Amino acid sequence: KTTSKPPPLPSPLRFSKFYQSNMRILVTGGAGFIGSHLVDKLMENEKNEVIVADNYFTGSKDNLRKWIGHPRFELIRHDVTQPLLVEVDQIYHLACPASPIFYKYNPVKTIKTNVIGTLNMLGLAKRVGARILLTSTSEVYGDPLIHPQPETYWGNVNPIGVRSCYDEGKRVAETLMFDYHRQHGIEIRIARIFNTYGPRMNIDDGRVVSNFIAQALRGEPLTVQKPGTQTRSFCYVSDMVDGLIRLMEGEHTGPINIGNPGEFTMVELAETVKELIKPDVEINMVENTPDDPRQRKPDITKAKELLGWEPKVKLRDGLPLMEEDFRLRLGISKE
Ligand code: NAD
Ligand code: UDP
Ligand code: UDP
Repeated sequence: KTTSKPPPLPSPLRFSKFYQSNMRILVTGGAGFIGSHLVDKLMENEKNEVIVADNYFTGSKDNLRKWIGHPRFELIRHDVTQPLLVEVDQIYHLACPASPIFYKYNPVKTIKTNVIGTLNMLGLAKRVGARILLTSTSEVYGDPLIHPQPETYWGNVNPIGVRSCYDEGKRVAETLMFDYHRQHGIEIRIARIFNTYGPRMNIDDGRVVSNFIAQALRGEPLTVQKPGTQTRSFCYVSDMVDGLIRLMEGEHTGPINIGNPGEFTMVELAETVKELIKPDVEINMVENTPDDPRQRKPDITKAKELLGWEPKVKLRDGLPLMEEDFRLRLGISKE
């Protein structure tokens, strides 16, 4: 006797592709600084459904409070070092502490997050056929011997130093991305992010822009780590998010540098913050930490040519936007 089989149920993934209505997007680390701004931008498009997976190590639900309860949004407490089963079309893989004081706090966990976490997200991408974007970092160039840094530069990284858990962790994550791409045909995108700043940065995470703004607002001396001639290039977060989305939607795997080529010494940055926020604040020279890169500036030729992207917000315009957010959070109003 034969029984007629019911027709197969469409998988949620095929379902969403069939109707071309919704794009389901996973953002790991979406409760963090860059991740939450990315979620804001993705949620503006009514065709997007966004799932955030975050363990709240350095991120906070507060960054996503306007989306909690929204029908196209879902927040999962999840550590990416554990397997994750969801059905999605795209994965923005950001989960990883980004500030030196946090990634050095538990270096073994930082490596696990970069290596096992990225492996899990690639396994997920493979199972559901999703495109995956990794937020790598300019730290893969280490203390660079070539300036500015093009994507073809292989870097100058100390494999056994205190920053290695992060630098080498991201380098292995990039390797895994390319091996899944070559071996399993996964669609990958790699962004090499340079120093990014803006509202929602952790106030006490020790990064230079957040430190200087918080110090200026609290009337404390700005702590320039010696020698103060070391340089960085700072990208405002809205420009960063725009670059990440263009990379995901474009045709190129990368790696592609996303950053602002405007280069400043730490003394120049301190002087700019002083001038814009508190002209009478002191600037103190303090001891530095080991392996601090002496200079860093992205070569963004590739981003310009392949993604039609370049940053729009100048440091002098971005700092006041961040000041406003820090004033609110610190409860310090303008005199
Ligand atoms: P962030 O610390 O604000 O955000 C990282 C998020 O990942 C946090 O919400 C944190 O809770 C989460 N997270 C950490 N470990 C996790 C784990 N094991 N499982 C799940 N979630 C975890 O940092 P950010 O500045 O928003 O950085 C986001 C990404 O961009 C990171 O991958 C970072 O390496 C990269 N990046 C940032 C910068 C920068 O200047 N901000 C520069 C280069 C690269
Ligand atoms: N993985 C996951 N979600 C999935 C599929 C896989 O987290 O939907 C994890 C899985 O637990 C494994 C990793 O991704 O640890 C790599 O998966 P893959 O299938 O590539 O390798 P394998 O399972 O054969 O080791
Ligand atoms: N820095 C500083 N004062 C601070 C914090 C950092 O002068 O209070 C310097 C630090 O030595 C480094 C630069 O600022 O040269 C950028 O440091 P950050 O930790 O923000 O980022 P990264 O080193 O990852 O680029």
